[in-house]
Amino acid sequence: MPRRQLQQSDRIVIIGAGVFGLSTALHLALRGYKNVTVFDKHNYDATKYDYRSGADSASSDLNKIIRSAYGSQVEYQDLSKEAIEWWTAWNQEIKTAKNLPAGLNSSDQVYINNGTLAFTDKDELPTFELDTVRNMRAAGLGATQLITTNPEDVRAADHRGWGYGIDPFRRKERRKANVGVLDTTGGVIVADKACRFALHKARTLGVKFVFDACAGAFESYWHDKDGEVVGVRTKDGRKYPAKKVVMACGGWTPALVPQLDGLCETTAGSVIMIKIPRESSLFDRFAPDRFPSWMWKLWDGAGGGLYGFPRDDRGWMKIGYRGTKYTNPQIQPDGKLRSVPITRYTPDEKVTQIPRKAMQVFKHFLGEYLPELAENGINIELTRLCWYTDSFDNHYVVDDLPGQNTVMVATGGCGHAFKYLPNLGKWIVDAMEGVETERTLLQRWRWRALETGVKPFNTLMQGNASPNAFKNVSWSKDADLTLGTGPRL
Ligand SMILES: Cc1cc2nc3c(=O)[nH]c(=O)nc-3n(C[C@H](O)[C@H](O)[C@H](O)COP(=O)(O)OP(=O)(O)OC[C@H]3O[C@@H](n4cnc5c(N)ncnc54)[C@H](O)[C@@H]3O)c2cc1C
Repeated sequence: MPRRQLQQSDRIVIIGAGVFGLSTALHLALRGYKNVTVFDKHNYDATKYDYRSGADSASSDLNKIIRSAYGSQVEYQDLSKEAIEWWTAWNQEIKTAKNLPAGLNSSDQVYINNGTLAFTDKDELPTFELDTVRNMRAAGLGATQLITTNPEDVRAADHRGWGYGIDPFRRKERRKANVGVLDTTGGVIVADKACRFALHKARTLGVKFVFDACAGAFESYWHDKDGEVVGVRTKDGRKYPAKKVVMACGGWTPALVPQLDGLCETTAGSVIMIKIPRESSLFDRFAPDRFPSWMWKLWDGAGGGLYGFPRDDRGWMKIGYRGTKYTNPQIQPDGKLRSVPITRYTPDEKVTQIPRKAMQVFKHFLGEYLPELAENGINIELTRLCWYTDSFDNHYVVDDLPGQNTVMVATGGCGHAFKYLPNLGKWIVDAMEGVETERTLLQRWRWRALETGVKPFNTLMQGNASPNAFKNVSWSKDADLTLGTGPRL
């Protein structure tokens, strides 16, 4: 169906104020759209995208990794380059802004360029990393990728101030192998502060936000007498007309948009948070200017898939596990089984633990790579389930629902969209306006189905037959939070 041309005065409704919704709203406003309203069932004005204050979206977090390292996927490498230009400009804007929202001050940085180390326990660099190095070289950015086993790169790292990022786990001193690549374009995005800033920018440009468990919650589409979608109805019963409705509800999207069956499913990643006391010598050791963000055996299946960060300014150090992603299949109103998010904050049915397998991988890693935590009596303070929206090919989904042109879906972040908060919306608005649809990324993000015989990157919708469905999973216990104790691999 041909795309409907939008006028700048048209009403546009966005459901969801995570990275996809915020970035879309911001770029619509930057492009002159005057009538944009974002609805969210969560009150971000109250929690400010802070997980510990009750915000449980994927975007509400301490920090996220930014990297240009994308293996053979040069289109995302280019998108990272574009994003880094925006992040750098945002840092500058924050420094000089006269007016900043609550929870942000002029000394804050949303992008910390302290490098991202991808490393392995194997003897050689994995294909993904080798592809990254080759493609960054081809883009004229070869010097940004420093291989930990290449003496020339190690010397260059020391010379250029990146020495701390080559062996942050002190492998040499422990007489252990240290095989990896430091992506010096990468580092940390301070996620909650970045969302606060994006929200503030969008508001300043005239975007309206309705944050409320009832008035902000999408209930259904509003149809005209011919069955065409002409707006949305919120949980408080109000109707809002719209020429375009963008469904950007993160992990909640597949249950709200059943057309995504087979294309997207929500899955849970496991996260632990460790608090480094300010008086501990480790507070300095794990400071962002001395410790990079990192990814360990990211694509190595259940026994790998870890990533982590330096401590933040309050001492919180986060480590995540994506080697196994879990599902919560629940019968939906149409009788089908779909995974739906459940978190510490879900009314009535909260989950406060993580799967035992995830805890085992964390503990194995901490024992091998960060034994100084247990030696200093530092334990895990908090666990979290954080909900991805996975697509079968790990590309996002940015397109109108098949067969109509009012409702668009912007989702499928697959664990790697946060880094694009400043520029993702530019591409989404391009898709909305139907411009440059031949650009590779927008093609990848179009509505699609898994072709017969093609192996998916993410296997979706196995229901309760999956060993990773919650009802088949055993869970960690409070006692597991103590480091130096079981369970280990
Ligand atoms: C564990 C984990 C680690 C990650 N690490 C990284 C990383 O290191 N680097 C990186 O680049 N990316 C990372 N990501 C990916 C990134 O966080 C996501 O791609 C991105 O945050 C998704 O944004 P979103 O807007 O799609 O979803 P969300 O942030 O989940 O936002 C969806 C919003 O929709 C709202 N909503 C839901 N239902 C309704 C309704 N009915 N009515 C109104 N509102 C509704 C929710 O309240 C929520 O605010 C990670 C993701 C996870 C889960």
